[in-house]
Amino acid sequence: MKKEPAPAIEKKLAKLGLRSQDDLALHLPHRYEDETRLTPADAAPPGKPVLVEGMVHKVEVKFRPKRQLVVHAEGLVLRFLNFYGSQQKQFQRAADEGQRVRAFGEVRPGFFGAEMVHPRYRIVPAGEPLPQSLTPVYPTTAGLSQFALRKLVLGALDEAVLDDTLPESVRRRHALAGIAQSIRSLHRPAPDTAAEELTGRTGEAWRRVKFDELLAQQLSMRIAYRARRARNALPLPSTGPLLRRFLGKLPFRLTRAQGRAMAEILRDLAQSHPMKRLLQGDVGSGKTIVAAIGCLAAIDAGCQAAVMAPTEILAEQNMRKFSDWLGPLGVPIVWLHGGLSAAERKRVAKQLQGPDPLVAIGTHALFQKKVAFSRLALAIVDEQHRFGVQQRLALRKKAQADFAPHQLMMSATPIPRTLSMSYFADLDVSTIDQLPPGRGGVVTKLFADNKRAEVLARIREACAEGQQAYWVCPVIEESRDDLQTALDTHAALTTELKGLRVDLVHGRMSGPEKAAIMNSFSKGRTHVLVATTVIEVGVDVPNASLMVIEHAERFGLAQLHQLRGRIGRGARASICILLYASPLSDMARERLKVIFENTDGFKIALEDLRQRGPGEFLGQRQSGMPLLRYADLEADAALALEAREAAERLLDDDPQAARRHVERWLASRHEYLRA
Ligand code: ADP
Ligand code: MG
Repeated sequence: MKKEPAPAIEKKLAKLGLRSQDDLALHLPHRYEDETRLTPADAAPPGKPVLVEGMVHKVEVKFRPKRQLVVHAEGLVLRFLNFYGSQQKQFQRAADEGQRVRAFGEVRPGFFGAEMVHPRYRIVPAGEPLPQSLTPVYPTTAGLSQFALRKLVLGALDEAVLDDTLPESVRRRHALAGIAQSIRSLHRPAPDTAAEELTGRTGEAWRRVKFDELLAQQLSMRIAYRARRARNALPLPSTGPLLRRFLGKLPFRLTRAQGRAMAEILRDLAQSHPMKRLLQGDVGSGKTIVAAIGCLAAIDAGCQAAVMAPTEILAEQNMRKFSDWLGPLGVPIVWLHGGLSAAERKRVAKQLQGPDPLVAIGTHALFQKKVAFSRLALAIVDEQHRFGVQQRLALRKKAQADFAPHQLMMSATPIPRTLSMSYFADLDVSTIDQLPPGRGGVVTKLFADNKRAEVLARIREACAEGQQAYWVCPVIEESRDDLQTALDTHAALTTELKGLRVDLVHGRMSGPEKAAIMNSFSKGRTHVLVATTVIEVGVDVPNASLMVIEHAERFGLAQLHQLRGRIGRGARASICILLYASPLSDMARERLKVIFENTDGFKIALEDLRQRGPGEFLGQRQSGMPLLRYADLEADAALALEAREAAERLLDDDPQAARRHVERWLASRHEYLRA
C-alpha cells in the first residue's frame, strides 16, 4: 500500500479536485519536458529548454550587480539570483568532490559563455542514467511543488489497477485504445512520441481519455435523467375547465414558438413522473404566459404552483401579470415577498399549508425552509441562471413525501447547443425562437462619453413625444461606489433634464420602495428611470423606447443583451445608446462590436462562449457543474456525439459498467448529482 499523503497536502490536492488514488492517476500532464537526452550547452537552440550536464568546477557568490550565486561547470554557467546557503554548500561539495550538475532550462549567451538562470537542477554522479520518457508537467496549485505532485501522481499510477470500464464491444465500436495503456503512456510517454501529439492532445491515448471523460459526463446526466423519470409526480392533465377557458380568451395570440413550447410543457405535466424542462427564449419572447398556462393545469388538478423570480422587481412584475391574467378566472394568487409583516407572513404560510389550490408568487423567499406547501405540483423558476445551485436545490426539497413537483426553469440566456448537449443533458429543453409580432425593434448606437449633451437632447425629444427612457449605471467592484454613481447620476440628470420626472431605482432599496418606483415608471408617470443593473432581467415596460447604458464597456455581453432587451417592446422603434469611455481595450471593443452588430440572443451567446470559454460562460461555481478537463466541446464535437450515443447504449446494455465508469471519473466531483 502507498503511504497516505499528509493532511496539509491532502488539502492542496482537494483544491485540484484530487481526493483518491484513482483521481491522481487520472490527473494528466498539461505539457512535457524532454530530459531524455543531453544537449551540449553551446548547441542549445535559443528559447527552447534543454537538459545540459557538466562537471562542477567552481562556486562563487558575487555582489555585483546584485548578490548572486554563480556556479561554473564544464561549458556552462548557472546563475541564481535567489538562493539558500544550503544550495551554495551543495554546489561547493559537488565542486570539491568532482560531481556533475544536470540542469534543465533555457541556455543563453552570457559573460562567461553559455549560461542558465535559475534552472531546475540535480547533482548527479557520473554516468547517472537519463529518464526513458518525457517528463510530465502537471497542473498544480500554490504550495504544491511540481516535484511533489509528480511523485504523488506517478506513485498512484504504479498502484492503480486501471481496469477497463468499457466492455470490449464499446471499445471496438468506437475504435478506442485500452485505458490503462493510454493513461500510462500520457504520464510516461515513450521517448519517440511526437511532442505535438502530446501537447496538441491528438493521438490515440488522448482520444481514449477524452472519450472516457465525455462519456462519464453524458452518463451522469443520463443517469440523473432516468432517475427522475422513475420518481412519482402528480399528473396534471390539460383538460381542466380553467385552462380551457383561459386558452379560449388569451390576451393575445400566441406565437407559433410559444404554442410549441406550451404543448411540450403540457404534455410533460400530464405525465406521472416529474418534468424538468428548461424554457429558453430571448428577452421579450413571451415566456411568462406559457408559465401561467402551466400553472392553470396545476390549479385545475386541485394543486399548488409556485413561481420564483430572482429579484423583488421581477417577482412584483410576475405578480402583476398573473393577477391580470388569472385573477379574472378566480385563481387565488399568493404574494410572498420580503416586505411582508410578520402577521402577513404567518397568514401566507397558513394558506400555503392549507388544502386550496393556489399560485404562489415571490422571490427565493418562497423556498426557504420555513415555507411548507401542502400540495406543490409545479415549481417554476424564472431567470433560472440568476440563481445559485443551493437555491435551486432548495426548490427540489419542497417535494412531498409521495411525489415530486414538476419543474420548469426559464432563461433568457440561451445555451449554445454544444453546451446544452453536455452540461444540460439531464434536462428537456423548449425554445421560443420567435418574438411576438408588432415589436418596433431596437437600433443600437455607440457614443463616446463626450457626446453626453447630444444624448440628453435625444432623451428630451423622446419624452416630448410621450416616450420613456432608462439610464443604466454600471456596476463597480466596490458596491458602495456602485450606489454612489447611481445617486450622482440621478442628481445630475434631475438638473440637466428640468421639467422631466427622473426617478432612481437601485438594489439597496427596500422591496416596497422599488415596487413604488417601478409602478410609477410603468404607469408612465416617471419619464426617465435611472437604474443600476437591477433592471437587467425581465422588466417589461413597453412604452420605454430609449435606453442609455453608461460605461457600456464595463458590461459583459450577456448583460448588455439583457439590458437592451428592456426596450423595443412597444410598436415604435427603440434606440439603445451605448456610452463608452475611450480609449477602449481590445476586449471591450470586441464586445461592443458584437452587441452593435447582433440582436439575436443565440448569436450573442455563441460569441460570448467563444470569447469567455465554457467555465466563465456557465459560471462554474454558480452552476456547480464539473467542467471538462481534457476534452474541448468545440474541438472534440464529433467525439462528444459518439460519447452521447455510447452513453445511452451502455446504460441499456450494461448499467453496472456505466456506474463504474462514472465512479472512476466523477466520484470526487459530482456531489451535485446526488442532491
Ligand atoms: P420574457 O420571455 O422576456 O419573460 P414576457 O413574458 O415578459 O417576456 O413577455 C414580454 C411582453 O410581451 C409582455 O408584455 C407580454 O405580455 C407580451 N407578449 C407575450 N407573448 C405575446 C404575444 N404572443 N403577442 C403579443 N404580446 C405578447
Ligand atoms: Mg420574463
